Amino acid sequence: MSDDTIFHKIIRREIPADIVFEDEHLIAFRDIAPQAPVHVLFVPKTQIATLNDVQAGQAEIVGKLAIAAAGYAKQQGFAEDGYRIVMNCNAHGGQTVFQIHLHLLAGAPLGRFGTTF
Ligand code: 5GP
Repeated sequence: MSDDTIFHKIIRREIPADIVFEDEHLIAFRDIAPQAPVHVLFVPKTQIATLNDVQAGQAEIVGKLAIAAAGYAKQQGFAEDGYRIVMNCNAHGGQTVFQIHLHLLAGAPLGRFGTTF
C-alpha cells in the first residue's frame, strides 16, 4: 500500500492544487494538463491504488466519486449539456497515478473515445 502518490501529497497539502471541492471522503481538483475545457479529478481519501483493488465493501467510495462529479456538474451548470467521467486502470487503461480517481471532462462536445489502438 502506497500513500505517497502525488494525489496523497495534494490531500496532505504538501503540493498545491486548484481544489474545487472537498469533504471528509474525497477531494476534487483541476487536472494539471486538462484534456477538455473542464477537467477535474475526484480522488478518495482512502488509499486504493487501482480499480482492481476496490473491495466489495468499498463500493460506496467509488459511488461517492460519481455522485460528487455529478453534483459538481449541476453546481457549475453544465449537467444538462453533459459531461464524461472516466477511470483509467493500469497500463492499457493509461493510468499514471496509482491512487484511484475519476476524471470529469466537460465544457464542449467530446470526441469518441477508445477507438485508437
Ligand atoms: P491517469 O493517467 O492516472 O488516469 O490520470 C492522472 C492525471 O493526473 C493526469 O490527467 C495528469 O495530468 C494529472 N496529474 C498528474 N500530476 C498532477 C499534479 O501534480 N497535479 C494535478 N492537478 N494533476 C496532476
